[in-house]
Amino acid sequence: MNNDELTCQELVELISDYLESALAPTERVRFEQHLTTCAGCRAYLEQMRRMIRTLGAITEKEISEDTLEQLLQTFRDWKHEKGGEHGR
Ligand SMILES: [Zn+2]
Repeated sequence: MNNDELTCQELVELISDYLESALAPTERVRFEQHLTTCAGCRAYLEQMRRMIRTLGAITEKEISEDTLEQLLQTFRDWKHEKGGEHGR
């Protein structure tokens, strides 16, 4: 077994540690070495980064926007129903 080179499987297992900068320096070097030779893992890492960024951006803005929209919708429906009742 070649202990120097990371396999794709190993890279995937280390990816969250890598993104949290929790890898040991030697592991980090091996990680990045694999990336230079493996386009598939580069793409995978890029995808993970983007997802994390999106999730981080979502938490406050989008959820409150969604919730607001839902509240407005509920309010509209509620008003409509009440108005209908009153109209009779
Ligand atoms: Zn790979």
